[in-house]
Amino acid sequence: MTSSTQHDVVIVGGGPVGGALALALAPTGLSVLVLEARSEQARADDPRTLALSYGSRLILERLGVWNDTTPVTPITSIHVSHRGAFGRTLLTADEAGQSALGYVVSHTTVQRALFAGLERAEHIVRLYGVRATHLEADAVAVRVEFEEEGARRDLRARLVVIADGGATAQALTQVDVREYGQSAVVATVHTSKPHGNRAFERFTPEGPLALLPREGSYALIWSMAPDAAQQLCAAPPDVFLAHLQVAFGERAGRFTDVTARASFPLSLRVARAPGAARTLLLGNAAQTLHPVAGQGLNLGLRDAWELGECVQSCAGDPGGKALLAAYASRRVRDRAGGILLTDALVRMFSNDHMPLRLVRGCGLTFLDNLLPVKRAFAQQMMFGRPY
Ligand SMILES: Cc1cc2nc3c(=O)[nH]c(=O)nc-3n(C[C@H](O)[C@H](O)[C@H](O)COP(=O)(O)OP(=O)(O)OC[C@H]3O[C@@H](n4cnc5c(N)ncnc54)[C@H](O)[C@@H]3O)c2cc1C
Repeated sequence: MTSSTQHDVVIVGGGPVGGALALALAPTGLSVLVLEARSEQARADDPRTLALSYGSRLILERLGVWNDTTPVTPITSIHVSHRGAFGRTLLTADEAGQSALGYVVSHTTVQRALFAGLERAEHIVRLYGVRATHLEADAVAVRVEFEEEGARRDLRARLVVIADGGATAQALTQVDVREYGQSAVVATVHTSKPHGNRAFERFTPEGPLALLPREGSYALIWSMAPDAAQQLCAAPPDVFLAHLQVAFGERAGRFTDVTARASFPLSLRVARAPGAARTLLLGNAAQTLHPVAGQGLNLGLRDAWELGECVQSCAGDPGGKALLAAYASRRVRDRAGGILLTDALVRMFSNDHMPLRLVRGCGLTFLDNLLPVKRAFAQQMMFGRPY
């Protein structure tokens, strides 16, 4: 093992949250190192499509990478319904007083935009094909062990931020897990009608189904039992489209083509503590949510932005107890809101109980008819708080 070099901050994971944090720390002048397990060639590839909130756009603008985040498709309305019962609601950008409720973009595009920003930033070093394997904190720093091209090396940092998507949170703190018994099938689907920038969230007893307008087609995120997801991913396109038509109905027109199918297992994973000595968990490492309502990365970007602000405002040791406590207290409410909202939506809507169908129908109708409540709901989704 080589002798340790020392950094102010080491970020484990160069995904969208790790990348955003590195950019948020750039103005501090601290020495920041990002360790990313994937190789430089594979670093951006990911089949997920993301609905970014208006609040996430503001963060990416402040990080100087929104103009690189292209192509994006604005969402100007969201139609929410549940299959086989009364009640639906339509959220519009006009009612929310914004030009868009959100933006649809591929995970790969967000990653590429962040990489472009990181290439322009000073004081930030990135290592690809490097996997962190072990952390050990003492009073002044954390020793990070990592593997690079088969060799074991280590370095030291005053603060280590884990943004690895959830791979190592359990080694630092207890992680509460709720298995939803669902996987998400993601795909690109084409329809006979233009999307008109409208997104759909349709709840079915098997799980929620979202259609996000993306350029000339829709990105589909369709939750269902894992074995059904596996079968549908392998089914011929016409069989897939016929199942989708039955599950979603005709609101978006006829489904005419499907490409780029993949599936993701879904669960809720919540780290009980914000981290450990001189170590913080961010993004999916701190909380992995069900993709219903598209909250995961939006929450993770707010984690990154707020940690950047804490480091800038708390002069001194970036891994000190004061900074860790300030960050944890700033994130409590937003984090709890995102976890509660997504978990409640999945559990309330992924079933066929008659009393719950009635409650859901009344809830959607109530939301549709009360503008202030609708506005407050849209703001919570866009910014994680009233704006
Ligand atoms: C189907 C689906 C749809 C979704 N849709 C939305 C949406 O519409 N809107 C939204 O906001 N969110 C959405 N999400 C959630 C969103 O994708 C995640 O919240 C987001 O990707 C988390 O980013 P992250 O950087 O924390 O983790 P990740 O994206 O998982 O990145 C972690 C990175 O860490 C690296 N890494 C892992 N272990 C190590 C290690 N030991 N050492 C070094 N590097 C390591 C990985 O290679 C990876 O690059 C969706 C999720 C799914 C599954």
